[in-house]
Amino acid sequence: MSAKNNHIKKIVIVGGGTAGWMTAATLAKVLGQNYGEIQLIESDAIGTVSVGEATIPQITLFNRILGIDENDFIKKTKGTFKLGIEFIDWTKKGGGYMHPFGNHGKGMDAIQFHHYWLKMNQLGAVPDLEAYSLAAVAARQGRFMRPQNMGNSPLSEINYAFHFDATLYADYLRDYSTARGVKRTEGKVVDVLLRNSDGFIDSIKLESGERIEGDLFVDCTGFKGLLIEGALKTGFIDWSDELPCDSAVAMPCMAKEPENLKPFTQSTAQKVGWTWRIPLQHRIGNGYVYSSKYLSDDEAVSILTKQMENEPLSKPNFLRWKTGMRKQGWNKNCIAIGLSAGFVEPLESTGLHLIQSAIAKLMGLFPHQGFDQIDIDTYNQQSKSELEYIKDFIVLHYKVTDRDDSEFWRFCRDMKVSDRLQAKIALYQSNGRIYRENVELFNETSWLAVMHGQGLQPKGYHPLVDVLDEDEIQRRLDHIKSVIDKSAETMPLHKDYITKNCQE
Ligand code: FAD
Repeated sequence: MSAKNNHIKKIVIVGGGTAGWMTAATLAKVLGQNYGEIQLIESDAIGTVSVGEATIPQITLFNRILGIDENDFIKKTKGTFKLGIEFIDWTKKGGGYMHPFGNHGKGMDAIQFHHYWLKMNQLGAVPDLEAYSLAAVAARQGRFMRPQNMGNSPLSEINYAFHFDATLYADYLRDYSTARGVKRTEGKVVDVLLRNSDGFIDSIKLESGERIEGDLFVDCTGFKGLLIEGALKTGFIDWSDELPCDSAVAMPCMAKEPENLKPFTQSTAQKVGWTWRIPLQHRIGNGYVYSSKYLSDDEAVSILTKQMENEPLSKPNFLRWKTGMRKQGWNKNCIAIGLSAGFVEPLESTGLHLIQSAIAKLMGLFPHQGFDQIDIDTYNQQSKSELEYIKDFIVLHYKVTDRDDSEFWRFCRDMKVSDRLQAKIALYQSNGRIYRENVELFNETSWLAVMHGQGLQPKGYHPLVDVLDEDEIQRRLDHIKSVIDKSAETMPLHKDYITKNCQE
């Protein structure tokens, strides 16, 4: 199969977590039932990580590709809508900001909105940047609706994602996939057999003794990377120098005020790492991401439990990882998707997006005619730069902060970050400019929200802002704010929107 002109007839996906079933669902939909055979192997005894419940707006595209009825999907996964992430205590204890999905204000005369805001803020004349974001204002008021067809109104541009129950999501996609011809096999893989000729994967062996052959293998076995690392010894690039958190504990609970259904994720910085709160229809997802070097598991459980609004519904679910990525996500006839390919850390909810993006790349470079090294190299190069940019964005949260109240935060303050990130920070600090490559996942709005939110203050702003006099800028800013406030008022409460559209 190393040469061209060898058609892929059988795809074997090992692992039935979110990565395995997202991959199976897309392959079944896009390649169709006439393509060949798709088989997924999962082990009930091993189970899944059972986390990964907050998403970013790109997932709506994934749903559209699958042709999923969004309300039905939210009903079945007990999901809610998400307009952004609130970061609490990240800049300093007592500080907070929203990273909203969607723009702040509207650009004027080809200059980005935030430059006008920076000028007026330096004069002390305006409310915080957040007041100019419909997503942030609506989120804080607990309101949500999908975008409306209303021309220039900000209500036409509502950008949203979801929170959902990870186990129900995998179940949902499993039903979707098996209905479209994916063969599911329950069993534990105990061996991976390589071909002598070229080192490609020939087959996998189950505990039952069954041997399953394939042409293309997708490794979705989670952190262990049973095929990509266990069998192919691909190697790993370690990023723990910049991202020291290596552990998490998750414990769901019931909501204290179910009527106050927040349409956003909350991330609260702790003395070591941070905790998350993800509101679902039937429960709250809580977790604590920390560094085992600076905090014990018992302390993590104790801190998380104290912060939770109700008793835990289950025993602590501990997770361990090393931040970083495989040297090659695609090696020979094996592609690692999901945690087996690498993990940055969950701070900006990028895990499921990276799965979606890996699947999209695989579809774009699919080896219809057999394996070609140039496809493989392209895939690996694209994956590497994608993940490096995401890493920079996440490291930004840890690096740019006034917190120095623990050894953990002092480590973050002093750690060396990439030249790319340093340059971005310096550019913004100098004159409020934000530079990003087109291939980066996070857009200018996101960089602005986090750089501003974490406390960076530019010395200047775009000089063309001075073409307008201050009264005119003030008038325009007031108008934008008033449109946003009025738009938010017309949005229903998130809870009511869910009750009306997305409940059984
Ligand atoms: P897993 O869920 O571990 O699935 C592995 C599968 O492989 C399982 O089915 C298992 O049974 C199977 N398997 C393993 N070994 C064998 C074997 N020998 N034989 C047969 N089967 C086997 N992402 C987000 O987008 N948003 C978030 O909010 C978010 N939060 C996270 C929080 C934490 C603490 C962590 C660790 C991750 C988070 N992620 C998040 C990432 C997200 O959870 C994962 O990307 C996603 O769940 C995919 O996991 P997976 O399918 O790769 O692995």
